[in-house]
Amino acid sequence: MGSRAGIVVTGTEVLTGRVADRNSPWLAEELRRIGVDVAHVVVVGDRPDDLTAALGFLTGLGLDLVITSGGLGPTADDLTADVVARFQGRPSRLDPDLEAHIASIIERLSAGRGWHLDPAATAAGTRKQALVPDGATVIAPVGTAPGLVVPPANGTTGPPVVVLPGPPRELQGMWPAVVEAPLVGAALRGRTELRQRTIRLWGTPESELAATLRDHDDVLGGLEITTCLRDGELEIVTRFAPGAQPAYDALSQIVEEVYGQTLFSADGRTVDDIVADALRSTGQTIATAESCTGGLLAARLTDRPGASAYVLGGVTAYANSIKQGLLDVPEALLDQVGAVSAEVAEAMAAGIRARLGADIGVGITGVAGPDGGSAEKPVGLVHICVTGPDRSIARRIQLPGARADVRARAVVVAMHLIRNLLADEPPG
Ligand code: ATP
Ligand code: MG
Repeated sequence: MGSRAGIVVTGTEVLTGRVADRNSPWLAEELRRIGVDVAHVVVVGDRPDDLTAALGFLTGLGLDLVITSGGLGPTADDLTADVVARFQGRPSRLDPDLEAHIASIIERLSAGRGWHLDPAATAAGTRKQALVPDGATVIAPVGTAPGLVVPPANGTTGPPVVVLPGPPRELQGMWPAVVEAPLVGAALRGRTELRQRTIRLWGTPESELAATLRDHDDVLGGLEITTCLRDGELEIVTRFAPGAQPAYDALSQIVEEVYGQTLFSADGRTVDDIVADALRSTGQTIATAESCTGGLLAARLTDRPGASAYVLGGVTAYANSIKQGLLDVPEALLDQVGAVSAEVAEAMAAGIRARLGADIGVGITGVAGPDGGSAEKPVGLVHICVTGPDRSIARRIQLPGARADVRARAVVVAMHLIRNLLADEPPG
């Protein structure tokens, strides 16, 4: 069996959901890269007893490594280092060199920012951060707080506990030094490579895929397959040891055979990657005309660096007057069929394409809700048209959910229609 780790995320702000946890997903992916599987993530508030209980739970599972994030600051609610030191039975001692190092960082920071700190309070905070448990390795700070690798108590066999700060930028910056630490290397000695591959389908229900996987159960041994429906895309993430590569090859062949029509990515690329690659490699440009999505598609297309090579621009045409004035949608058409219609989506796509001189134009118009729906045009009805030099693809979709869901999902559908047009495929 490969190596396994547990993560304790500390912080009442994370426990209550005020701050979304970014550290455990990041650590899980970094650990996977070095062949370590995460068994559990436990979130606790800034309370010593809860942190101690979490450490007890994770170390009791026979894991190879435990990592904590958060609670390394100079203030009273930052108690992780002290709790871990007690838990591992290792009394802390002041490290004068570390104390001087932290003091110099704080001096530099406060000079740069024009702070006037109370010298006594600062010294107390610095001293607290420079306490190092007996036998622990210090991980040099990226901010002001040093990290620690704290071995188990002498004569015991538990995992070392890696203690890292909460701010994601600091935690991530210190991670390479954690991987290099001899105590961590020794704990993970038994690890083997853990491969992860992602396949994405568009338009296949999860239940259908589940049935296919059951039918081929006999050849899929050694694979940990998780399927997840995300934004209407079916994501198949498979993790396996190198020895199970033939089983994975069998899986990808089965998926290709059965779901060739809906399979759009077998190499981990997202729809955004595929659209960007296709626009770049064909040298085509794109422009957007959005009503109900209010610019979300333009934001998504311009999300990645280098988008200026293929995105010309877009118009958020919310009012009919803008659809007419900036996109040349005929007034008579708006009167006749209404703004939410296949005809207007098409006219918006053609209008933005012509006005901006783009190779591809996209038009989106719909009823995002919660108001504005009718029997004929209910909330969630969206018309999308993608038009290129040779052909157009249009879609009428009825989307479930609240306003934000409708808007977000309409953008995903538009991304897939753009992908279809660029790949010269029928719409999925
Ligand atoms: P500091 O010296 O800044 O207090 P710290 O190591 O004590 O560092 P925390 O007090 O736990 O860290 O968190 C500081 C801030 O870092 C939080 O307010 C939050 O904004 C961010 N943060 C902490 N943990 C996480 C997390 N798991 N995911 C995302 N952000 C986090
Ligand atoms: Mg703190």
